[in-house]
Amino acid sequence: MATDRRSVLDRFRLDGRTAIVTGGSRGIGRAIALALGEAGADVAVIFEKAAARAEEVVAALHALGRRRSYAQQADVAQSQAVAQIADEAEQRFGRIDILVNNAGIAHNAAAEDLTEAEWERMIRVNLTSVFLCCQAVGRRMIRQRSGTIINVGSLSARIVNYPQKQAHYNAAKAGVHLLSKCLAVEWAPHNIRVNVLVPGYIHTELVDPFLARHPEAAAEHWLKPSVQNRFGAPEELAGAAVYLASDASSFMTGEEMVIDGGYTLR
Ligand code: NDP
Repeated sequence: MATDRRSVLDRFRLDGRTAIVTGGSRGIGRAIALALGEAGADVAVIFEKAAARAEEVVAALHALGRRRSYAQQADVAQSQAVAQIADEAEQRFGRIDILVNNAGIAHNAAAEDLTEAEWERMIRVNLTSVFLCCQAVGRRMIRQRSGTIINVGSLSARIVNYPQKQAHYNAAKAGVHLLSKCLAVEWAPHNIRVNVLVPGYIHTELVDPFLARHPEAAAEHWLKPSVQNRFGAPEELAGAAVYLASDASSFMTGEEMVIDGGYTLR
């Protein structure tokens, strides 16, 4: 590979690149979509229900000068909807440089009470969707001989969270981590990199229901074990997403980038 003579900050730039961010309407996905836009990329903001919020993100991207950015409704658990995401992005952008698989759901239930339908839905939304999006967009990246994929995994793929019971969520996220490594190996010859962004506890609407019901348990078991003793904010993942999406991380693939405030240190 030729020596890259750009300055280190220039290697973080995404000018002229194009991205798809699933679950870009709020929380972590919103922060990542805006950060990619700030770095120069046009972004397809994929949402399931929150149309108005997705349009707000698009308006902010337009204000940054990323005029080709748009919002699209899609259930990423449905293969037909995923095909439409890839088709639309190819039609509007001509190519897809960056895919961020961020959309996800949470649900708590003891393993002995979990219904088969709850298990299937969790695996479908949090794991199968990641495969479907990687496959639909990856086929195009293979044709164009380049691309970067960021899958949002979780600490839950590496530890068993406490006190909430969520075996199905943890299993799905563990699948996301290993799937990412498999694709990193399979697609390296096509100049495609695949990495996992691994958040610790981040304050978003995903964690609000548990937090509202069990504030003391969250403080004791979610915050205290983190050496920083606090939640992360979605924006604290945004720099890492730009890094993983950009040429700044050109020698990194199949890795898990943990951002957890030191939760797993002790
Ligand atoms: P939020 O609940 O705040 O946002 C979830 C996003 O996913 C929304 O944009 C939602 O769209 C979208 N979404 C959900 N289901 C679907 C679907 N079937 N099709 C399309 N979009 C869908 O979650 P976070 O921002 O907290 O989480 C983002 C990711 O980070 C998830 O994968 C989560 O598992 C992971 N994560 C989060 C952690 C945390 O502490 N918050 C910790 C570790 C990992 P809409 O708004 O339209 O409903």
